[in-house]
Amino acid sequence: SKENTTGECAGFDSLTCYYILLQVVQWAAFYCWRNYMSPYKDKRWRSKRDTALRRDKYECRNCKRFGITTTATVVHHVWFLRDYPKWWLCLWNLISLCEKCHNKMHNRDSDIPTELGEYWQDKIKPPTSATKKYF
Ligand SMILES: [Zn+2]
Ligand SMILES: [Zn+2]
Repeated sequence: SKENTTGECAGFDSLTCYYILLQVVQWAAFYCWRNYMSPYKDKRWRSKRDTALRRDKYECRNCKRFGITTTATVVHHVWFLRDYPKWWLCLWNLISLCEKCHNKMHNRDSDIPTELGEYWQDKIKPPTSATKKYF
């Protein structure tokens, strides 16, 4: 057969196409896996989350500080899940929040606690037994 020197396929040779496809498949597989493995999909988490919401009467704890009653839709880890995974399912570490207040807890770019996030960490300290276990 004649050699293709004109660059059909908009300049993509089949090897490049193959690598792009491979990348897409890898990305999709990783994405599915991450979604599937998400700690937020875990049954134990779903149940702890419900318990926290019931304890807080489905009201935002942060709004409550200002005497405002707002329906809580998010359960937040006061000591962040990423930094303190061992306190993932600890009820003392969970507070019910509205979406607006929850956004104010996390630094959008770095996901470190904001000033408000730190305020709550100051308010809700881990029990000494949990600290011993963790550190
Ligand atoms: Zn709120
Ligand atoms: Zn959070």
